[in-house]
Amino acid sequence: MTETGVQTVAPAGDDASLPFEVAALDVRGRAIQMGPTLDAILSGHGYPDPVSKLLAEALVLTVLLGASLKFDGKFILQTDTDGPVDMLVADYHTDGALRGYARFDADRVASAEKEGLKDPSGLLGKGVLAMTIDQGPEMSRYQGIVPLDGGTLEEAGHVYFRQSEQIPTRIRLAVAELHDRDEDGTMRKTWRAGGLIVQFLPQASSRMTPADLPGGDVPEGIEIGPVDEDDAWVEAQSLAATIEDHELTDPAVPSERLLYRLFHERGVRVFAATPVINRCSCSRDKVAGLLGSFSAEEIAESIDNGEILVTCEFCGTKYRFDPGQFTPDS
Ligand SMILES: [Zn+2]
Repeated sequence: MTETGVQTVAPAGDDASLPFEVAALDVRGRAIQMGPTLDAILSGHGYPDPVSKLLAEALVLTVLLGASLKFDGKFILQTDTDGPVDMLVADYHTDGALRGYARFDADRVASAEKEGLKDPSGLLGKGVLAMTIDQGPEMSRYQGIVPLDGGTLEEAGHVYFRQSEQIPTRIRLAVAELHDRDEDGTMRKTWRAGGLIVQFLPQASSRMTPADLPGGDVPEGIEIGPVDEDDAWVEAQSLAATIEDHELTDPAVPSERLLYRLFHERGVRVFAATPVINRCSCSRDKVAGLLGSFSAEEIAESIDNGEILVTCEFCGTKYRFDPGQFTPDS
């Protein structure tokens, strides 16, 4: 069967991850351009711009990786580093729900900006990037950890696929602030981002890479040899390398057009897109459950003005509790 050009039912639009396949190159992947969903998550936090930009990269990477899960579950990306932004957390549920937050030292971020910070990745410092697949309480969690040594999240993603998954992979991430006018004509700033993941997943057994296993995980006991740089993969990588950051975030270059631009000579086929929504999974019951696991001493320390106030780091929702609810009768 020959496929030429992009064949799709309806354009994916903003905030939807679009799977694609370039059969002639044994390449599969996903593309996404994020607009209102990303902007809502970032505006809700109101972080300094470089922190927002970093979190945006983490969110896009999380969607690109999480959308590959073939079962109901959650993909969690988390950094733990020694820089001014010492933690980024983003998680994506396979139903499309995305959320994230950053923890940072505002003074250190401000002085880095004053010193002319060019690449926000410099705010991460050194540490690790952990990626966790959570299929619910009955299933074991899978976690892959790679070092973050002053590089970008994009680079850490490459290391992850090389070391943990041994799937030849290229990832591209880009974030942009757009300045336009709202209905009243007032200038406003909105966040956009885009991303692409391209993976070499040959079907032929003569090629040494594994098939696309659930979660991209390689089962225990299966040894995978080194992969020669296959001609098809060399070609796919060099095409992916031609993408400019602005193309990934340009509203005038939707995902289908970008994929067509890259792969039309080989024939690229796209599949149904999955919409990404800004939704937090916190609830009063979950917070109460957590407080219920606290010791009496921890509960006592959490009381302020006669109540326990818990604010969700992801969405800012405030939950207030009567401490009596958690104090064991004595
Ligand atoms: Zn929440």
